[in-house]
Amino acid sequence: MTPSSSGGAPSCVEAGERGRSKRALGRASVEITVRGTVPVTTGASIADLCSSNSLAYERYSPCLMASSQRMVRIVDSRLLSPSVRYLSLDVDVEAATPFQFVAGQWLNLYVPTEAGVEKRAYSIASPPEVRPIELAITHVDEGLVSPRLHTLAPGDSLSCDGPYGFFTRDPSLGQSPLLFVGTGTGLCPLRSMLGDLLNEPGHPPVTLLFGVRTQADILWREELEAWTARDAQFRFEVALSRPDSSWQGRTGYVQAHVAELARALGEPHVFVCGLSKMISEVRALCKTELGYDRKRIHSERYD
Ligand SMILES: Cc1cc2nc3c(=O)[nH]c(=O)nc-3n(C[C@H](O)[C@H](O)[C@H](O)COP(=O)(O)OP(=O)(O)OC[C@H]3O[C@@H](n4cnc5c(N)ncnc54)[C@H](O)[C@@H]3O)c2cc1C
Repeated sequence: MTPSSSGGAPSCVEAGERGRSKRALGRASVEITVRGTVPVTTGASIADLCSSNSLAYERYSPCLMASSQRMVRIVDSRLLSPSVRYLSLDVDVEAATPFQFVAGQWLNLYVPTEAGVEKRAYSIASPPEVRPIELAITHVDEGLVSPRLHTLAPGDSLSCDGPYGFFTRDPSLGQSPLLFVGTGTGLCPLRSMLGDLLNEPGHPPVTLLFGVRTQADILWREELEAWTARDAQFRFEVALSRPDSSWQGRTGYVQAHVAELARALGEPHVFVCGLSKMISEVRALCKTELGYDRKRIHSERYD
């Protein structure tokens, strides 16, 4: 689910303005030459889009920004798995106030595409005190925005707004055990919460059940295995839906493993993140098979 698609931010691509335009950007004022409607070729990267139209990248991004948005600069961009790109972002490039968020929240990225500037939501994968902030983006092959995000390189800039969302661990949960269930990049907000939680002395027991297709798709595997090795209160379980013969662990969809892991924790709060079908099925089995009240099931849907 995209909270809402394009339309918020003014776009040089869409505007088709002629001549020079001066737009206010917070305290600064940015002068941009806009040369008619910018032709865009499908598959072109954002940097290509700018360079082929004589728009300096640094200047292109600010012209897309509304006052509630802030500029972000890519610090690092690399593959975490064959289909997932890690991006780290400097979110305080030109901002008057530091970017603050609660573990589990998401932000909107504004991305120039052939259809204009599109906004998409991305969960922040790092805990609140870590800078630069970290994202993980699944390459959706037929998608409009995610393939473009996969072309970003260090030094590129975009705009964002946020943070948003209530998929967070409320302090009132206290010592309640936690079952985190994520598939694919649905791991991101759970990793942010884990990074926060595991630093708390005497934190409640937490199990992460992570579902992906193959071993190559297991994101942040070394880190998660290191966390479970050093913290007896953290259990990390992976379910592979397309395992190869070398895999000794759980197989199938996460849905098949939720009840067992939940019962092992006692009466956990369950946090589920990923695509709608998985979330609906996990919610249903928590209610029918485990008898959980819906207040104990927290979810974030990506589609
Ligand atoms: C609160 C929230 C947080 C999100 N956080 C993340 C995140 O951390 N990482 C991330 O990669 N995505 C995340 N998403 C999904 C993201 O906002 C986009 O929907 C996704 O990148 C696809 O955008 P697109 O323009 O490439 O595809 P579109 O052109 O918008 O859609 C193409 C099709 O792909 C489907 N689709 C959407 N997401 C996926 C997916 N992950 N896998 C397979 N199919 C998909 C859509 O339902 C649609 O049918 C989040 C969404 C929400 C609502």
